[in-house]
Amino acid sequence: MDIFSETNFLLNKYKIKANKNLGQNFLIDKSVIEKIIDSADINMQDLVIEIGPGLGTLTQYLLEKAKKVISIEIDDKMIEILNDRFKMYDNFNIINQDILKVNLKEIISKEKKENQIKKVKIVANLPYYITTPIIMKLIEEKLDIESITVMIQKEVAERLIAIPGEKNTGAITYTIYYYCISEKILEVPNTSFIPRPDVTSEVIKLNIRKEQIVNVEDESKMFKVIKNAFMQRRKTLLNALTNTKIFNSKEQGIKILEKANLDINIRPENLSINDYVKITNLLND
Ligand code: SAM
Repeated sequence: MDIFSETNFLLNKYKIKANKNLGQNFLIDKSVIEKIIDSADINMQDLVIEIGPGLGTLTQYLLEKAKKVISIEIDDKMIEILNDRFKMYDNFNIINQDILKVNLKEIISKEKKENQIKKVKIVANLPYYITTPIIMKLIEEKLDIESITVMIQKEVAERLIAIPGEKNTGAITYTIYYYCISEKILEVPNTSFIPRPDVTSEVIKLNIRKEQIVNVEDESKMFKVIKNAFMQRRKTLLNALTNTKIFNSKEQGIKILEKANLDINIRPENLSINDYVKITNLLND
């Protein structure tokens, strides 16, 4: 049976409709699934954590490749299907919970200890309504993971994997760049899903950096500076950071920008990550 027929068969058999509020758009394109699996680069020593397995389309492929798959799904209705479908696999675990509430650190450390897992990889066709909080959770919790391969909305993908200082950036671009080396894998049209989402999608891979790219004295302070700079995007950096009280005064701001060799009219999106490091370090002087 092809994936389109299989998806319709499962929806009919279990009498369910895709729940829009949960971002349920099921993948039906085999070549896209194969590309995701390929680029995730999974082997028999890996634990894969899948977010939002839905009917299990990607899960099926993951189970064949990985030592173990833990899928986290919020929708009770999907749990019965997944349990029926994969009962013959002894390398499968389902967690019926909201991904934002799952203690991934604990799961990963337990699996590494008990199951001789070498690497942990995250793979998902994400629910688009919470893409950013999920990705921020995966990155900010500093999990012991190798990579994150995800399908997300194209527009969001481009912001996440942009190069700081170039086009399409936001505060999140700097966070991703700081923690990850990112790759664009594939653009995916809405015809690859049922039901079809309103937007075009993109698969990206975020490889967690093993070494820091810049030396910053106070990481959380740097991200606070970046976040405040981008809160007032149309303003100059000087005005944005003065208005948000990162600079005590305009005068202090001008001195810091001059010391960092930056034009006092520069805009937040034109700074490199190194420029933000310099500003953050100068705030401590
Ligand atoms: N992996 C399937 C596929 O590719 O066909 C389904 C992907 S669908 C885009 C997103 C899935 O995430 C749905 O199954 C949905 O129920 C689930 N989901 C939505 N919000 C979630 C949350 N907060 N935590 C865990 N899963 C969630």
